[in-house]
Amino acid sequence: QALGISIEDKGPLHIVPAPIAQFEELGVLPAYVLEALRKCGITAPLPIQSQALPLVLSGCDVVGIAQTGSGKTLAFLLPAIVHIEAQQPIPRGCIQPIALILAPTRELAVQIVEEAWKVLRGSKSGRHSNGVWATAVYGGGKKHQQLRELQYGSEIVAATPGRLIDFLTQQSMSLDRVTYLVLDEADRMLEQGFAEDVANISGQVRPERQVLFFSATWSSEVQMLASGLCHRSSRPVRISVGQ
Ligand code: ADP
Ligand code: MG
Repeated sequence: QALGISIEDKGPLHIVPAPIAQFEELGVLPAYVLEALRKCGITAPLPIQSQALPLVLSGCDVVGIAQTGSGKTLAFLLPAIVHIEAQQPIPRGCIQPIALILAPTRELAVQIVEEAWKVLRGSKSGRHSNGVWATAVYGGGKKHQQLRELQYGSEIVAATPGRLIDFLTQQSMSLDRVTYLVLDEADRMLEQGFAEDVANISGQVRPERQVLFFSATWSSEVQMLASGLCHRSSRPVRISVGQ
């Protein structure tokens, strides 16, 4: 698979870290994550992971253009866990995620948290005594059930825009602690008509957040959405896998 890496032309030069061949090379993944990856038979990073992981961990905003099945989920989940482990845990009863992942469909939101659970099962042995946890928030699911799960203290939330806005409007949830914002399958997000909702949500996240933006295509509409989200002084690094 051809792997191209390109840097947006206008911003200051990034020092692009070398791609990794092994997850251990990152040096910052908690032991429980490395063990969980091994147990799941995930032995080596896929191309987008070997490029994106060191970049994301260096604090850059990253735009990843890659097809389904290329391994984007772990590319944003693993750095999210490192980011969270470095902070104080969310107190019980407090619904204040640190990493917010926006997804266009319920199925995708659920798939993302299931991928997260695979690597988080051992997280009680990490710095957070109750473990780092992930919760899916989506329309159609029972609200009170999702809220109860969130109240156990979920640092990672994968959400569809509609239900998330619902929770924000009811003030059931606060985005004050979100410093890591992911937009997954941005092209499908636009197809579903979520552009305005995404802008509304990202407007409630502090401006100096780190942004990871993923899409299968790079149309002008997708580019516009990306530039609306990645507005820190440094420009996003763009990684393309395939054509
Ligand atoms: P995408 O989001 O790009 O569509 P996913 O992140 O959902 O792709 O990954 C597709 C599948 O590949 C998942 O089942 C995931 O567990 C698996 N996977 C991810 N990374 C690796 C890896 N490094 N080695 C083997 N399998 C992997
Ligand atoms: Mg995906």
